[in-house]
Amino acid sequence: MRAGLFGLVLAAMVAVVAAAPALAVVRVVATTTDMAALVAAVGGDLVSVETLIPPATDPEAFEPRPGDLDRVRHANLLVRVGLGYDFWLDPLIHRVGDKRLMRGGTAYLDASAGVPLLEIRGQSVVSEGGHAHGVANPHYWLDPENAAIVTAGIVEALARFAPAERDRFVANRERFLAQLDARLQRWRESLAPFAGVKFIAYHNSWPYFARRFRLDVIDFVEPRPGVAPSPAHLAHLIAQGRKAQVRAIVHEPYEPDDQSRLLAEKLGVPFVRLATSVGSLPHTEDYFALFEFNAAMLARVLGTPRQ
Ligand SMILES: [Zn+2]
Repeated sequence: MRAGLFGLVLAAMVAVVAAAPALAVVRVVATTTDMAALVAAVGGDLVSVETLIPPATDPEAFEPRPGDLDRVRHANLLVRVGLGYDFWLDPLIHRVGDKRLMRGGTAYLDASAGVPLLEIRGQSVVSEGGHAHGVANPHYWLDPENAAIVTAGIVEALARFAPAERDRFVANRERFLAQLDARLQRWRESLAPFAGVKFIAYHNSWPYFARRFRLDVIDFVEPRPGVAPSPAHLAHLIAQGRKAQVRAIVHEPYEPDDQSRLLAEKLGVPFVRLATSVGSLPHTEDYFALFEFNAAMLARVLGTPRQ
């Protein structure tokens, strides 16, 4: 009797799923909005994506919230930036204790796999509270060309869980990359007049972005990730900025901005806040918008003649 009822319920569930193929089938948890945006681009309506670091938060100051353990536990796929950027995920994974969510597991994706890394410093993972840039610079999503590598990993990981949908994941990815490529041409054209222009940035967020768009970040307001500048360091930056003729001070969304503003004032150059992540500033709601915003801001700021 019970088995019969269960069979009926199961049959009804199968019927519902079959009748509604657009239903989200893969439950993904991403550590950052950037990874979530790339998962959404590949997964479309076949995935639901939750992000652990809220969009309006400094990833360096992030600590997991009470519900995050359950979010990780119930994920069909876990996507992380890796390279120490989201090191706080490891204790959550170990507390859940499920092999499929662990490094090498079927539901685990370190999106940095296969990305050509910059500022490689050795093989040991350093985590000293805050993302430490220990292995390599972790801000690789800020080169649009790295999205091809990251989304290839996402297709494989989603298809492990939902193999019947592989063709749709592949098609979604191809459509996304074609659109991205067309936009990238435009972004490059709009920034081409500023090739070789020098900046000082608050945090070392920009090596991938700067290389792609041929910009030159010569130094940082924080002497090390997460460390505020001393007066001596600021004096050094003012001297160096004058000598190198920097054209702007680039500032991240959630860092305190008084030192960057002071430096911009001393050097007589614009202070410009750029988006380091999807959703970190208004008008950066997806992966395309992130670059649209940054390219437009830079072109606007650098298009202004020096005072
Ligand atoms: Zn960083």
